[in-house]
Amino acid sequence: MAKRVRNVGQPVEEDSSLSDLFAPKGYRARVSDELESLHAEFLKYRLPEEVRASEVAYEAIQGVRTCGFCARDLSPKEPAYLGAKIYVGMWPLSWDYGRKPQIGKPLYEDTVLCSSCAPEWLSPERDDVVMQLCAHCERPMVSPLDLFALRRTFCSDRCKEAYREELREEKKAEERKKVCEVCGEEFTASRRDAKTCSDRCKQKAYRQRTKEVKQTR
Ligand SMILES: [Zn+2]
Ligand SMILES: [Zn+2]
Ligand SMILES: [Zn+2]
Repeated sequence: MAKRVRNVGQPVEEDSSLSDLFAPKGYRARVSDELESLHAEFLKYRLPEEVRASEVAYEAIQGVRTCGFCARDLSPKEPAYLGAKIYVGMWPLSWDYGRKPQIGKPLYEDTVLCSSCAPEWLSPERDDVVMQLCAHCERPMVSPLDLFALRRTFCSDRCKEAYREELREEKKAEERKKVCEVCGEEFTASRRDAKTCSDRCKQKAYRQRTKEVKQTR
């Protein structure tokens, strides 16, 4: 959890007076345990509303069923506004390998918003904003017009997975579609190795086979 959030947000100018407290570049691995525990200590003072804001934003982008800012449930065909980041408070201490630690880094979380929480630059009337339908749930998706948006087919990973599952089911059903060897009718077999459409045709096929056996004797 901590590791995920730490990577979110925009790069910020480093405060050299503060980072001098820590080891210089190259010593990051050695001091990282101390940094981890200091970080954990600082986290205790994180505002609960900031923690909540971060959770709301994260859960919203995962499921695309709620607004990442006001946390309201989105109705099934309500547009989802994608591509915005929201400010979710300060991260007390953050560091990346090869960089000096930063204190009080503003955190932004990728999220999905409802129409009343969406910023003006995400208005569907604008030329640089597109509206597409999710290929699974058909929820309208409003997002900035860029390559990423044009490649977006599903509102969420949840819909992407559901769509794949449907394809798998269809393929299975397709594989079970057969032509009865007795009457020539098309049927959906419950078993992959079925050759006849019904018990009647199965009996017929059986009788035919025994007759053939008798004749060849
Ligand atoms: Zn909202
Ligand atoms: Zn969807
Ligand atoms: Zn048949």
